[in-house]
Amino acid sequence: MRLACFEDRGRQRVGLVADDLQTVTPLALSDAEAALGALPLVERLARGEALPAADGAALPMASVRLLAPLPRPRRNLFCVGRNYHAHAAELKGSVFKDDNKPVDQWPIVFTKVPECVVGPHDVIRLPGAHITEQIDYEAELAVVIGIGGKNIARVDAMRHVFGYTIVNDVTARDVQMRHAQWDLGKSFDTFCPMGPWIVSADQLDGLHTRVRCWVNGELRQDGPTEQMIFDIPTLIETISRGITLYPGDVIATGTPAGVGMGLVPPRWLREGDTVRIEIDGLGTLENRVA
Ligand code: MG
Repeated sequence: MRLACFEDRGRQRVGLVADDLQTVTPLALSDAEAALGALPLVERLARGEALPAADGAALPMASVRLLAPLPRPRRNLFCVGRNYHAHAAELKGSVFKDDNKPVDQWPIVFTKVPECVVGPHDVIRLPGAHITEQIDYEAELAVVIGIGGKNIARVDAMRHVFGYTIVNDVTARDVQMRHAQWDLGKSFDTFCPMGPWIVSADQLDGLHTRVRCWVNGELRQDGPTEQMIFDIPTLIETISRGITLYPGDVIATGTPAGVGMGLVPPRWLREGDTVRIEIDGLGTLENRVA
């Protein structure tokens, strides 16, 4: 299934996207539930309950405005840094200063605040040159947790994956490198485009898909998820060590090579740029920079 959150004639709703992607059928949720996007549905399914009934006819996709499937995640998004070898190499000595530390020991994990999430076609807003001048994109497959748990073993981890969505882990590199912690440089308002929907794990194999990113039509990133340094089961095992994961938690799994900082010379996002991210079997994000 594909769970989408959208605005229809001024009302925020959540629904099921048809297999042909042409329509979306709203489900019977209160406005308070719909404000949380797909989260109440992921929670219901994790409890073994059925989805609510349809509430109205299928709507043409072209007539609604897609929002992030989790427009306000329940808490910070877990994010993984340095999770593709080629990306580790392109930022070696800058973002990844600790050159002598073996990359295959433990993953880097940081978070983005929930309030930076925006929709799949919303604008990425530059915070201003007095705050940052080095805005970069990071195309990523994001895991959405279904059944929660703590100390989840690697062999059981995929049972806890409800599905997947796309995030752009937009990053202010100068701010990221200024602080020992990355959260500030990763959490500016609008710095987490998400969508276009959540695809359930029975319909997408996140271990074997392909992440691509174009800036103004130029292909910058193209990485198969098989090339992750720490695969999804390992990430879930690591993050759930002593921390309970809940339905709807998001884990952004890291970005392939080809970010703007890795180019020579670096190419930062500018006003008017368009970043398009596509993951096979999932869909596309397209966000203009302003
Ligand atoms: Mg990232």
